This record gives sequence, structure tokens and C-alpha cells, in this order.
Amino acid sequence: MDIQYLKGVGPAVAKKLEKLNLKDTKDALTFFPSSYQDRRSIPKIMSLEPGKDQFLVGKVKSIQSIKKGRFTITNAFLYDNTGEIKCVWFNQPFITKILTINKQIFVHGKLEYDSAPMTKVMKVSEYEVVENNNIDRIMPVYSLTSGIYQKQLRAIIGRSLIKELNLLKDPYPEKLLKKYNLIRLNDAIFNYHYPKDQQSYSQAKRRLVFEDFFYLQLSLALQKKRVKIHEKGIMFEFKNTLSKLYFDSLPYKLTNSQLRVIQEVREDMGKETPMNRMIQGDVGAGKTEVAMAAILVALENGYQVAIMAPTEILAFQHYQKMIKYLLPLDIRVELLVGSVAKKNKERKYYLIETGSAQVVVGTHAVIQEKVKFSNLGLAIIDEQHRFGVLQRSALLKKSGEVIDLLVITATPIPRTLTLTLYGDLEKSILDEMPPGRTPIKTVWLRKMNSEWLSVIRSELDKKNQAYWVFPLVEESEKIDLKAATEGREYISKEVFPEYNIGLLHGKMKQKEKDDIMKQFREKKIQILVSTTVIEVGVDVPDATIMVIEHAERFGLSQLHQLRGRIGRSDKISTCILLSLSRSENSKQRLSAIVGTTNGFELAEVDLQLRGPGDYFGAKQSGLPTMFVANLVKDEPILMESKKMAQEIADNIEDEGYLSIIHELKQKPHLYIGNEGMN
Ligand code: ADP
Ligand code: MG
Repeated sequence: MDIQYLKGVGPAVAKKLEKLNLKDTKDALTFFPSSYQDRRSIPKIMSLEPGKDQFLVGKVKSIQSIKKGRFTITNAFLYDNTGEIKCVWFNQPFITKILTINKQIFVHGKLEYDSAPMTKVMKVSEYEVVENNNIDRIMPVYSLTSGIYQKQLRAIIGRSLIKELNLLKDPYPEKLLKKYNLIRLNDAIFNYHYPKDQQSYSQAKRRLVFEDFFYLQLSLALQKKRVKIHEKGIMFEFKNTLSKLYFDSLPYKLTNSQLRVIQEVREDMGKETPMNRMIQGDVGAGKTEVAMAAILVALENGYQVAIMAPTEILAFQHYQKMIKYLLPLDIRVELLVGSVAKKNKERKYYLIETGSAQVVVGTHAVIQEKVKFSNLGLAIIDEQHRFGVLQRSALLKKSGEVIDLLVITATPIPRTLTLTLYGDLEKSILDEMPPGRTPIKTVWLRKMNSEWLSVIRSELDKKNQAYWVFPLVEESEKIDLKAATEGREYISKEVFPEYNIGLLHGKMKQKEKDDIMKQFREKKIQILVSTTVIEVGVDVPDATIMVIEHAERFGLSQLHQLRGRIGRSDKISTCILLSLSRSENSKQRLSAIVGTTNGFELAEVDLQLRGPGDYFGAKQSGLPTMFVANLVKDEPILMESKKMAQEIADNIEDEGYLSIIHELKQKPHLYIGNEGMN
């Protein structure tokens, strides 16, 4: 029911509730308290200590309002059997009508010493007349929006809950509730708002966390089953023709880790079951060689390959790499990104549809409807956290056949997230760095100083090079660009006049960018001042210094990626983070990046500090909203929900599960890709 028709709401209040995403009484079912107020043991007035938020229950001894100019101040004295206390309200003259003498009331607010010595005064933020249902119990505390009061919101949520919980049917059959030690959904929701005690709270929470995870797990389990049973993939043959040409010409030996993962990929591709694999490896671990192994097998079998990256810059870098590696093998590579001119695009579509374009590199432009492949056999997705389940299924539908899929992630995804998002993927980990890399030393300074400038100078004197990175975000693009430009001026005039300083930023034309990069590679430029365009793919082995300005403005994984641009040879490299920030969060993040070069550890820290929503860029990720669950802390429950999902997927004929399947179908964002499911 539209919440405005609920008793005591109406259009004006409904408008405010909308800001809290409460539009329908149903929305109350997932509008959970942000904290609780334990009114089971109310402190006595005598024992209250000033200086913090407190609550108490007392009887009204006296109450009166005084007008002071435009303001009204109401003073009341409340008492219990230990003493009395003064309470103050601002600008609420009407309460003298509600809080009449001898009424028992609950008040909550900040307790301070009054101007008179030893007397205490409470500045009341919340009050209620005591009734039999609002005392001696744990009360929910909800996030508010302006113009809505806690007491009012409690009443609205309470009424909505009563209405909705009566209609709510728990789709979980009794035997699963028992087996997985879960309470009924109605009870869980009610008790999460009004827990009787710690145990009732824990049980409610367990069920709600389970609920947050379960349907995505079920959807994934069903997809996996469908792929296994109904769909036969391509059995690629490892012919070792193009593969041999390529790998024999490599100037280095593959690491054991690369060899193992390449073997896994080739085996997957040889099987009838479609490959569904994710390669996780830290920056610089050599994931490209694994991707190449897969690409070459597909090409050897006469299939096309699609490579997708989340941004145009990334796509372009993959494209350049592919041209470099594949042109010598006489393979035609095409780039397909949004910014390609229309006429040019039509030509590319044609090349793709006729099969002349053998490898197509692009952004999500590749999954647009107009793109038709002649015989797509393999899709490679460079993940970077930005594609979710949905985009993947769109890509998989691009071909008449069931294609093989390889997901590559440069920024490591913590285990809990992988399980949640890609429960259906096999995983390979590249856990060995190619030889000849020296760990990067990282320091955090508040300001650049002469000591570190001389370290940089001595590196440059040894013919090594440096990156000097400035942050750039879209919202403050102009200011940021100015900072980078001025930074370059300053460095080249005042700090290192004897060296050539280049500037690289995203607003430059591609040709200018290429030109600057070329000069940097050829050592005509010693210090490259840049915004984050160098984040990925740039490979200049003699760059041994990186300075990062305003380091607190970068995400942890971004800093890690950036830092991966140095330390690409056997020389010792140093990353200098500059940040004046004193916030606790910056401190934690910068200490983490100083403390470890392990991208996986950093990803865990990042996730803990930022929470999954930010970590992922929530909406695009395909990650369902988590109302109660915490992806890091609730991993054990996630594992149990996965088990139950598997049990249901394995026994899908069981009539007891119909209601669960029905419920899944009500969730369109999870249900995608499951057509063919009964
Ligand atoms: P990733 O994509 O995992 O960040 P890349 O595949 O781009 O890493 O590899 C980083 C660099 O390491 C590239 O310059 C690549 O040529 C080089 N490289 C890859 N594998 C090896 C190896 N086994 N030995 C030496 N260098 C390697
Ligand atoms: Mg790479």
C-alpha cells in the first residue's frame, strides 16, 4: 500500500519518507534499525553522569514554558525514587499539553551540569509518554531525515510492519529452516526491529543475513547447473600452431605459476563443458600471457575472440598489446569502443559479422545489440570490478554456441566477493611474480622535503626516471588539471631545472599522449607529471621513482595499481606518498599501502574500510543490496546459504522448493540468465 494512506501519514509526511526510500508499506520490511536503545534497565536519576547521552524515566513534578524573544524554552522537573532532574526543551511549547503533572515519561538527551553548582540538566532530544509497549524493552533507532521524528518513524514503521508481516509468507520449507537453523522470515523481521534479548536479535540477524545472500547464490547455482546439463560448449583442440609460434618467441621463461594456470585454461577449453574461469593475479604478475594462451587456442580452432575492458583507456591499451602480439601472426584485431565514429563502426560491425575481424577488443560497446559475431568462441573480460553477472550473461548470448569465458582481474577481489558475485566461476591464482622484480619501498610524507628530493635527484642522475602523479576527479577536473599543470611548471623551473619534465593528462589528444609516452620511453623526458592516465598498462622499466600528490584522494587499489608502474626491473624503486590528511580513514589506508605490497591484503583492507558498496561502485556491479549482511564478517553464513542453494538446485523437482523458485522469479535482477529454468 502507498505509505501516504497509512494512518498518520498523508502526502506531506510521505514526501519526506520518500527521502528514506519509504514509498510503500512494503519498504518497511527492509527498513532496518541503524541501532537500538536498550530500555530494559533504565538508570536511576541519582546515578546519571553528565557529559554524555543518557536516558531516564521519571514522573513530571512541574513543567512550564518561558518565551524569550522568538524562542520558547520549556523546563520540567522529573523525579524517580532516587532524586529529581531538570529537563529542557527548545521551541516545543506544545509539550506542556502532553507532559502533564504526574505523567510518567521517557526522555533521552545530553546530560550536562547546570549553571547552578551540582545540579544536572538534560537537553532533551527525544521524549515519550510511558505506555506499556515502549518501556522495559529494546527499541529500534532508525536513520531519520529532516522533519521526521524518531517516535513518529517508529510508529509508521511499526504500523507498516504489522500490515505487511501478516501478508508475508516464508518461502523456505520447514525442513530447510530446521536443517539450516533458521527462524521464520516474519519473526526474523519483527525481532530485528524489536529484539527481546541478545539471542532473539542474533537469530533474527542470522536469518536476514542468510536472506541477503541466498537468492543470488541460488541464481548462480541454477545457472551453473543449466550450463553443465543442457549446454555443450566448444571442445577446442590444442593444436600448438599459433601457440608455439608465440610462446617460442617470448624473450623470457614463463613462471611456474603462469605455466600451471595456462595448463588449467587449456584443459578447460578442451572440455565439452564451457570454461568459466577467473584469473586473479596481482599487478605485474603476467596475466596477459595467460590470456594470450587462451586467445591463441581459440584462434587455432578458427574462432573469434572478444576482449572486454571497463574503460576506453584500458580497452585501447589491450588493443595496442594485441596488435603488437598478434599482427606478426597475421591475425586481424579490431577496436570497438563508444567513441568510434558511426561510419567507422558500421565497417567494424561488418568485419566482425563476416569473421574477418578475428580478435575484437572493446568496452561494453562490444555487447551492444548491433554487434554480431560470425563465430565467437571465447570471451575475455578484464574485470576491474566493474562488470557484474548481468553484463557477463549478455556477452555469453552473443554467439549461437556456448562460448568459453575467462575473467581476468588485476585488482584482486576478496574471497567473499568472488563467492557472492561469481559463485559459478572456477578460480586460478597467479601467485608468483616474474623474476627480476624488486619489491617497492613506499613512504608517506606530509610534504616533500630536501632529503627525499636528493634521493630523487640521485636516481635521475643514474639515468633512471620518475612519475609524478596528481589526482584528477571529474567533479573538480578544472582545478585538478590546473594543479597538475602548475605542478609541472614548478618542478621544471624550481626543482629540477636540469631535467626534462613532461605532462600527460586525459584531456590531451591521443596523438599527443602517445608522443609524450614515446619521449618518456626513449628517456627524452626524465620526469613524467601526470594525472592517473598512467594507472594501467604503462611499462617503462627504468622508472624507479613515483611521487603521488594528495595520496589520500586515491582509492587503495588505485594506489596499488599506480605503484605497479615502478619496480619493473631489478632496480630498487621507491614510491613517495604525499598527504597532509589527518583523518583516521586516510591514516589507515596510507599505512596499509606503506605496510604491504600484497594486493590481496590491500583489497581486504579496502573492503573493510569502505564497505562493499563503494568498493564496487555498487549498482553496476550486479551485487544485490545487502540490508543486513556484511560481506567481510558474514562469510560463514554466506557459505551456508551457498550450501542450501546447491541443495535446492540439485533437487529442483522437489515440490517443496516451488515457493523458493517462485520467490527468485520475483527478483528480476537475479533472475536474468535463468530462462530455461523450470
Ligand atoms: P599483469 O597484466 O598481470 O599486470 P602483465 O601481463 O602486463 O602483468 O605483465 C607485466 C610485465 O611482465 C610485462 O612487461 C610482461 O612482458 C612481463 N612478463 C610477463 N611474464 C613474465 C615472465 N614470466 N618473466 C618475465 N617477465 C614477464
Ligand atoms: Mg595487464
